[in-house]
Amino acid sequence: MTSKCALCDKQLDSNFRLDGRCEECWRCNQAQTFVKMLEIIRNLAVKQADFDETYQRCRQLQLVIDSYSIYITILKQLKIRDHYIDKIAIPYLCDRLPKTDIKLYENYCPIELETSDQNNNLLKSIAFLCSINTVDNFIELRVRNIIDMVINADTYIKKNSDLNELQNMKPTWLRWIVDNAREEIWKVNAYETPIHILWASKTALSCIDTSSPWLPDRVVPLLPLMQITQLENLESNEMYLPIPGK
Ligand SMILES: [Zn+2]
Repeated sequence: MTSKCALCDKQLDSNFRLDGRCEECWRCNQAQTFVKMLEIIRNLAVKQADFDETYQRCRQLQLVIDSYSIYITILKQLKIRDHYIDKIAIPYLCDRLPKTDIKLYENYCPIELETSDQNNNLLKSIAFLCSINTVDNFIELRVRNIIDMVINADTYIKKNSDLNELQNMKPTWLRWIVDNAREEIWKVNAYETPIHILWASKTALSCIDTSSPWLPDRVVPLLPLMQITQLENLESNEMYLPIPGK
């Protein structure tokens, strides 16, 4: 057991918790705790900590994370009375899908997320589709995601053929996930119900010159349309699933 608090670096006194937090940090709520952890990860990136130091720190933070459960309910259908259609994203869904996906998504609608900053990112879309309703849910997902990718770096590197060709894979991997706090991978595929997202843009498709390469700058969750008569059945069938064991 280290003698410093896992979250604030304060020297631990006799009141420390088994997960390595001081009394003060232990009293923080879940959202505050994950904000603190994101700050620690950002500081590691700023000081360019090497892989081993980052790995040890993430192992320490994982003990804190283990104190918090995350419950998900995967949304299966668009609910007319709860969701708004994202009108800017509709042309991207209708006109920009690969031919092989057109049939698959013909019944889907892009959903507008209620975000104050209008920066819909991948994690916000995932949090929405998984009904993760904690405050700043995307911060919690980001922290869990980064720590998982550091602790299980070997597994991810093995699966990623681009990284396999690089030398010094772990430092490269670390820069990739920590510097940019990347959001690429989340283990939602482990569930039987897949979720669907659309890479789109904040700009209307009609205003983009698609004859030259352009970068999608916005992620939008997709949900299939449902009949009003299905609403009652669906609401009584929602289930809570635990995150699978690591
Ligand atoms: Zn503390």
